[in-house]
Amino acid sequence: MQFGNFEIHFLSDGLFKLDIGAMFGIVPKPLWEKERQSDARNRMQLTLTVPLIRAGSHNIILDCGIGRKWNAKQRDIYDVQEHPNLLDSLVSVGLKPADITIVIHSHLHHDHTGWNTQLNAKGEPEPTFVNARHIVQKLELESARHPNEIQRGTYLRANVEPIRAGGGWDPFDDNREIVPGITVFHTGGHTAGHSAVSINSGGQKAMFLADLFPTTTHRHLPWITAYDEYPMETLEAKRRLFRECVEHNALVLLNHDPNACAVRLQAAGEKFEAIKEC
Ligand SMILES: [Zn+2]
Repeated sequence: MQFGNFEIHFLSDGLFKLDIGAMFGIVPKPLWEKERQSDARNRMQLTLTVPLIRAGSHNIILDCGIGRKWNAKQRDIYDVQEHPNLLDSLVSVGLKPADITIVIHSHLHHDHTGWNTQLNAKGEPEPTFVNARHIVQKLELESARHPNEIQRGTYLRANVEPIRAGGGWDPFDDNREIVPGITVFHTGGHTAGHSAVSINSGGQKAMFLADLFPTTTHRHLPWITAYDEYPMETLEAKRRLFRECVEHNALVLLNHDPNACAVRLQAAGEKFEAIKEC
């Protein structure tokens, strides 16, 4: 879609599944099952939408899916299919990995950093987007490089260290304007260094809140995943950012909702409603 002077495309890295109870944290099943169903293994179908912003000479992606470096056991756990994937999706808009100039990382969990690397003929991970700067909150990169027992399953060396070896990381503190109109800023909550992206052009505003708002069902402020390391921070970030989105009638880009890639939020008293845009 045209968005001011930018173009926004919604690329896809396919689908995967996560434990549905974990996706809704403390919220009991009788509440979430009105909107979301689980499979026989108690998993929720999620999508891996990757927003692409074409801004002048820049091709910018917001996170990069779950990738395809998975072994058979991991594929089974997360139900990751080979196709479609992000590289197929890039071809569909006439781009190849070398055309990506900037990867903005909301955070470095495995379902957001998968295509940072792919396996070469020797089976070693090497950078996929060879001409890209990888923008990341410094605190997030530190967490990913030194994960604790809780984080180790999701901060994968294979998605992080080859970028470091190639000099591809471009860390920042707090917030930074990446190109005129596109700013990344710290939110915390989901992870210590989790960040969101504000996209502004021609009087329009879009926001990518990443895993603070993974699906429309998470429009309820206290519906926060069990994966969130700092849920009280998530709660306050959602309250503040949802209000900002309503105030500016922002297009809110979603990465994990199988039924919607973008919504607009409306205030309904203390609550919020999500109106599907695509
Ligand atoms: Zn995620």
